[in-house]
Amino acid sequence: MREEYDVLLSGLTTMRLGGPARRLVTAETTDELVDAVREVDEADEPLLVVAGGSNLVIADEGFAGSVVRVATRGITVEAGGSADSNASASAGCADSESAVRIRVAAGEVWDDVVAQAVAQGWSGIEALSGIPGCAGATPIQNVGAYGQDVAQVIVEVRVWDRREQQVHTLANADCQFTYRDSLFKAEPERYVILDVLFQLGCSSLSGPVAYADLARDLGVGLGDRAPLEEAREAVLAQRRQRGMVLDAADHDTWSCGSFFTNPVMSGGSYAALQLRAQARLGALNGPAGPVGGDGAVRVPRFDAPDGQVKTVAAWLIDKAGFGKGYRMPGPAALSTKHVLAVTNRGSATTADVIALAREIRDGVHEAFGVSLVNEPVLVGTSL
Ligand SMILES: Cc1cc2nc3c(=O)[nH]c(=O)nc-3n(C[C@H](O)[C@H](O)[C@H](O)COP(=O)(O)OP(=O)(O)OC[C@H]3O[C@@H](n4cnc5c(N)ncnc54)[C@H](O)[C@@H]3O)c2cc1C
Repeated sequence: MREEYDVLLSGLTTMRLGGPARRLVTAETTDELVDAVREVDEADEPLLVVAGGSNLVIADEGFAGSVVRVATRGITVEAGGSADSNASASAGCADSESAVRIRVAAGEVWDDVVAQAVAQGWSGIEALSGIPGCAGATPIQNVGAYGQDVAQVIVEVRVWDRREQQVHTLANADCQFTYRDSLFKAEPERYVILDVLFQLGCSSLSGPVAYADLARDLGVGLGDRAPLEEAREAVLAQRRQRGMVLDAADHDTWSCGSFFTNPVMSGGSYAALQLRAQARLGALNGPAGPVGGDGAVRVPRFDAPDGQVKTVAAWLIDKAGFGKGYRMPGPAALSTKHVLAVTNRGSATTADVIALAREIRDGVHEAFGVSLVNEPVLVGTSL
């Protein structure tokens, strides 16, 4: 276990934001991770768990407690065949009808896991290519993109339960996965994720391609499958166009990805939003305008579970007047490629980023009556 003192947390986050931590402990094994967390809890100190730092906005004042950095490693094939994941081109797969189960340590870099799955012929997470951060953080907000999310492939999550001071295994159904949400997000102080067991298909083909842009790039129909490698490359290309693949030289990627989740609402609230949008935007038109040939504004609408409706935060932000690259005076701005990403242009502080995010949240509320909710975890600050 490595211990450091007065470490700037900006070096650990993709936004390059965050003041000093009193103490930083890096845990490289699961035992070290449990010991480090237990030690902090026994001392009754504030604890912050950090993995890839890609979904964290930490206050300029830093964190007056111990930060435990998750740097555990290991991918093990648990069922379906060989225990050595490097043993063959499709380790763990008896045949193309079967599935493979892999246990992944919390600190494994997520995109390395996806790359390995694709290389091995394991299908089910290829659409999650290029998402920064570590495997152990993926259950927390049920990481998802391009029609896949980890809830579709998680069998169980092994955790250290800080309340009961025990290791527990939570089955998928216990994790309360919904859109960008889970039990772990609901009880952020309780669980430290140690490893995750995923079940992937044994197939050289991707899952059904769920996005029109992706299907077009792959030359397949919506809902069709594509070769795994090609699906991964197409996802990475789409993400790069939107500044959603980390690149230290590109300030558009100095972000947390999407700063706001897509709002999910009742049918009645959606109807009210539609009316409000019609009143506000109905006069506008043009090729890029929101108004169809019949003069009706079309607020994006997707079916969500339990009869709810999901709309698109980026659409609301854009139509509320915050276009790509929007900025207040100062070095925080919306990405020039995607309005959903709040970015640090190089010398922003957390206060700058929060001020911009507040302006956007308030502007969308004023325009459409919808309250946007932040996706990243805010530490020592709030919107
Ligand atoms: C450019 C970019 C693109 C992105 N695109 C997407 C996307 O397409 N889809 C998507 O869903 N997300 C996306 N994200 C958000 C982010 O990558 C994911 O949420 C990711 O899973 C966070 O992982 P992390 O290891 O960086 O977590 P961190 O930022 O280190 O931590 C996030 C939260 O999880 C907690 N945590 C981390 N590890 C553990 C653990 N082992 N046990 C308990 N708590 C833990 C932390 O305490 C914190 O509260 C994107 C981010 C960026 C910067």
